[in-house]
Amino acid sequence: MEHKIWNPTMECMPREQLRALQDERLKDVVRRVYESVPFYRNKMQKMGLTLNDIHGVCDIELLPFTDKQDLRDHYPFGMFAVPQSEIIRIHASSGTTGKPTVVGYTSGDIDRWSEMMARGMYCADIGKNDIVQVAYGYGLFTGGLGAHYGAERVGASVIPISGGNTTRQLMILQDFGTTAICCTPSYALNLAEALQAEGIKKTKLKSGIFGAEPWTEAMRVKIEEMLDIDAINIYGLSEVMGPGVAVECMCKQGMHIWEDHFLPEVIDKNGKSLPFGERGDLTFTTLTKHGMPLLRYRTHDLCTLSDEPCECGRTHIRMGRVMGRTDDMLIIRGVNVFPSQIEHALLQVEGIVPQYMIVVERQGTLDTMEVQVELSPEFMSDTVRDVEALEQRIVNSIAAHALVHASVKLCQPGSIPRSEGKAKRVIDKRTL
Ligand code: ADP
Ligand code: ZN
Repeated sequence: MEHKIWNPTMECMPREQLRALQDERLKDVVRRVYESVPFYRNKMQKMGLTLNDIHGVCDIELLPFTDKQDLRDHYPFGMFAVPQSEIIRIHASSGTTGKPTVVGYTSGDIDRWSEMMARGMYCADIGKNDIVQVAYGYGLFTGGLGAHYGAERVGASVIPISGGNTTRQLMILQDFGTTAICCTPSYALNLAEALQAEGIKKTKLKSGIFGAEPWTEAMRVKIEEMLDIDAINIYGLSEVMGPGVAVECMCKQGMHIWEDHFLPEVIDKNGKSLPFGERGDLTFTTLTKHGMPLLRYRTHDLCTLSDEPCECGRTHIRMGRVMGRTDDMLIIRGVNVFPSQIEHALLQVEGIVPQYMIVVERQGTLDTMEVQVELSPEFMSDTVRDVEALEQRIVNSIAAHALVHASVKLCQPGSIPRSEGKAKRVIDKRTL
């Protein structure tokens, strides 16, 4: 396969050279935050750390961590490293886990973000001959505008339709001959279902860039089959930049992290850096951001890193699928469960569609978990259906893949609420 590469000089840079670049850029960002962000200067002074102590990436473990709470404590602009006159854009995280955190971009930051998203577009084989439907939400959420600027940078024709309004999405998709789509994987599935429901078999779609929420390999297969496309995983978070911090190439074996701009680490509970291949909390130091640079920002996203060379020719390391963030982890009678494990378990079973909701309750001192999942329309129309046997297969699959007992409630096709952006998978009644 021929791989389309947007910026071969940077994306395929030999690793020693990339490391040297990171060394320089790390010293530069540490100097910038020390000089301009009181939060970092105070932290470093308390730790007895001076600028001369940081010689390069080898000294990364000396630097302080940053957590979401630190951003909240300095809400809204307290972490900015440049005067407000230099800030040309403000975004905020979606606030999935609390009060939103605010980020500011200089014009250079927006330029670099567009470049990284352009790399992502090429990764998904999207170029100037493509018509790209951006169905991520536009607004404070970084998804829409991030994808928009990247698609424009590669010269594609961008349709800034934003999220939601499925009927209109489908109309535009067909009338304009959309060849690529950007949205959350759960919304991609919703669109695919809606297409099927309308009996539309053929579209011009060839690829999709999906992210902003955890999804599984089995879900990729499902979406690729239903839409007849290549489904590419993209990762990012507003605090660190927005979408496009990492993106998969056509090898679909993990997402390349743009290491000329970010220094990733995977750390354990005690803050120790883990070697490649071990799962832990993904942490980023931004090397080139000026508006709001961050040192060792703990994403709480659990994943592994790999430095295995990739067939596409890019030299930047890859991150595996994010299982979920530690905040999303459910503890059911002492067993740790991620919604993504449930998704994986469900997709092993025929007769259902991966539209699901997990309801957790406490009865007395015991946690209970119910998984509500939809029957597929084909199963509904099957005359010899056996609902009980199907339920049992799902219970077994969950026990095998997530090591937890769940009760299963089968629902009518279309009855589980559909998301237009990030899907809500869990109702935890224990905290109420
Ligand atoms: P919020 O933290 O309010 O949800 P963001 O919109 O910035 O704000 O979301 C970033 C988070 O979304 C990431 O930290 C991660 O948990 C999740 N995420 C983004 N892309 C992916 C992906 N491809 N796979 C799994 N999770 C993802
Ligand atoms: Zn690759």
